[in-house]
Amino acid sequence: MADGVRGKVYGRRRFLKQLGQGTAAAAALAYPHPRSPHAATAKNPQVRYAMVIDTRRCVGCHACSVACKAEFDVPLGFYRSWVEYVEKGTFPDVRRSFLPRLCNQCSNPPCVDVCPTGATWQREEDGIVEIDPDICIGCKYCILACPYDARFANPVTGTAEKCDFCLHRVRNGLEPACVETCIGRARIFGDLNDPNSEVGRLLATTAVTVLRQEMGTKPNVYYIAADHTGEGDARAGQYVRVTTHRRQKDRR
Ligand code: SF4
Ligand code: SF4
Ligand code: SF4
Repeated sequence: MADGVRGKVYGRRRFLKQLGQGTAAAAALAYPHPRSPHAATAKNPQVRYAMVIDTRRCVGCHACSVACKAEFDVPLGFYRSWVEYVEKGTFPDVRRSFLPRLCNQCSNPPCVDVCPTGATWQREEDGIVEIDPDICIGCKYCILACPYDARFANPVTGTAEKCDFCLHRVRNGLEPACVETCIGRARIFGDLNDPNSEVGRLLATTAVTVLRQEMGTKPNVYYIAADHTGEGDARAGQYVRVTTHRRQKDRR
């Protein structure tokens, strides 16, 4: 579905009326809703945008989080992109590392599967998972379905929100705001299907990991040298503190 179609076909109010009102009715509908203007999912897009985050270069400055908040006017206490501090050990043998976080633009996104209106969808052109605010009814199913806690309900608009790799910038040949502002060049963005892109080269030559691989979501955000074993270590009884500097989890 072409970008221009987005939002033109159905206004949110009209869409709700046609649904028969309410999330209960919406939940009973098969996905994708036949009136959704969007295609279902992109299984093999020609371009597959991805991000590689080299945690060895991240200094935990939060410039990426600030740039993102400014780009999208994200309400206070909520984040589309954020940086976690992972602290391990017992004094004096302690270690702190940084884990930048954002929507993983999963190839197999559970948030798309649960959306009753088709407001969450995956672009055929490049695999980016997007939200159409005109047909989002604010049911929060997608927020609960995301294993990465990447979404929140915007208290101003009442609709779901998350990172979209700065699609409005990428369309115009720019990098996402967090990438452009990163002082350590820790964030690298590009098409992983292009072997000549920096992302393509890194993925071909460098060991990377993804978050929660066991979920089968196939993330497209890759980490170099990331210490994202915090939760497992905490369960094993070691001292681990993960600081997220955000509150959206408490405000669902
Ligand atoms: S990280 Fe969460 S919100 Fe983003 S595509 Fe994956 S499941 Fe959906
Ligand atoms: S809150 Fe999420 S699941 Fe519900 S309609 Fe909006 S995008 Fe879809
Ligand atoms: S701007 Fe770059 S260096 Fe700073 S916290 Fe974000 S990813 Fe790390």
